[in-house]
Amino acid sequence: MSESTLHLTADVLVIGGGPAGCWAALAARRAGASVVLAEKGYVGTSGATPPANTTLFYTVPGDRLQNDGMVDHRVAPAKGFIVRDFVRRVYDETTVNTELMTRWGYPWPRNETGKTFRGNLRGPDYMIFLRKRLLAEGVRILDHSPALELLTADGVAAGAAGITRRTGDRWEVRAGAVVVATGGCAFRSGVVGTHNLTGDGYLLAAEAGARFSGMEFSGQWALAPAEGGLTKGIIYFSGSFSDADGTPIPHPAVPDALAAGRSVHAVLDRADPYLEDGYRKGQPNIFVYFHRLGGNPFKDRYPVRLLYEGTVRAAGGLDVDERCATSVPGLYAVGDATTREKLTGAAMSGGGPAVAWCIASGTWAGQAATAFARQFAAGAAG
Ligand SMILES: Cc1cc2nc3c(=O)[nH]c(=O)nc-3n(C[C@H](O)[C@H](O)[C@H](O)COP(=O)(O)OP(=O)(O)OC[C@H]3O[C@@H](n4cnc5c(N)ncnc54)[C@H](O)[C@@H]3O)c2cc1C
Repeated sequence: MSESTLHLTADVLVIGGGPAGCWAALAARRAGASVVLAEKGYVGTSGATPPANTTLFYTVPGDRLQNDGMVDHRVAPAKGFIVRDFVRRVYDETTVNTELMTRWGYPWPRNETGKTFRGNLRGPDYMIFLRKRLLAEGVRILDHSPALELLTADGVAAGAAGITRRTGDRWEVRAGAVVVATGGCAFRSGVVGTHNLTGDGYLLAAEAGARFSGMEFSGQWALAPAEGGLTKGIIYFSGSFSDADGTPIPHPAVPDALAAGRSVHAVLDRADPYLEDGYRKGQPNIFVYFHRLGGNPFKDRYPVRLLYEGTVRAAGGLDVDERCATSVPGLYAVGDATTREKLTGAAMSGGGPAVAWCIASGTWAGQAATAFARQFAAGAAG
């Protein structure tokens, strides 16, 4: 292996190429910044989104009932931490950007009348679409290039350094502002898509002195088939649970039963044929496991377990202001790497808000990081 160092400069460096990092890079580029995006894996297949197939929340212009309903739906589990205006702002920003995706040619699914359905982003399609857009906009992507160290100058974020895993070479990007988009931390949990999510961004930011918030709301667990790693929860709203002998277990009692070492089985017998068809078409990723192992989850009981998602689609993370700036000058943070308390309070952020937050926070951080880099450069020149 060679050991040379790739030296780059950019206005904005984004660390992590999940949806939040991609949106940050795109927003910075559209604001006129030169952008480098360093990703530990491969932008398009890495992170929690490709296998997750995510439901998306956004506001529908003029549909007050639906928009209020989406916010109301989050109030009770938020335990008082939610900020309603902020939630609206996130969903409104998401709407603007789904329009942008339409202009860029995103192939939204359509119903029989030709109306587009934007409530679900099929993970792999969405992420590869964003990758192509990044390349089209001129973002320099460093795949397989984990950031290992944040560079600072007089307490201001000034870039990062890392390695290129395929060659062993080092890279160093000097930048006017840095966006941390490294996702949550689900270290060695076995949840599909989280293998790279080891909390690196938290460490880089903490070493630079960044503040965190809401970490008490960050122990997210979710159900998965006993031998599978996909923790998609939507199907369990149509599930019945029982122990090994067939004794029913109410849904809310399932975590305690599993924690007590009981064997718990699920069957999705409360889904009517319409819903079953919807799950199979809308979330085909869930059924790969059953195709592989055989059995019909709508008729046959199968064992389940709880897997740890940590801060992935949880609530706590790096504390950021309304422009996604951390407490370290020049350092911004987006997506699962940040606190989402104002959006979902004490409750998990998945099921729509998390992915909207990736779009909104990415957009705000990309714009703000560009402005910071410009101001800083102007200050240094002056
Ligand atoms: C099973 C499941 C289902 C979900 N369903 C939904 C849903 O229906 N609706 C919803 O809103 N949300 C859902 N979510 C949550 C959603 O997937 C996440 O909120 C979203 O992926 C977060 O995006 P992100 O860009 O912040 O992080 P990620 O998508 O996790 O991307 C982070 C990226 O950073 C990279 N990285 C990490 N460390 C480094 C480093 N040191 N250097 C360079 N790169 C690094 C990683 O490789 C990764 O590619 C689900 C999550 C799971 C696990």
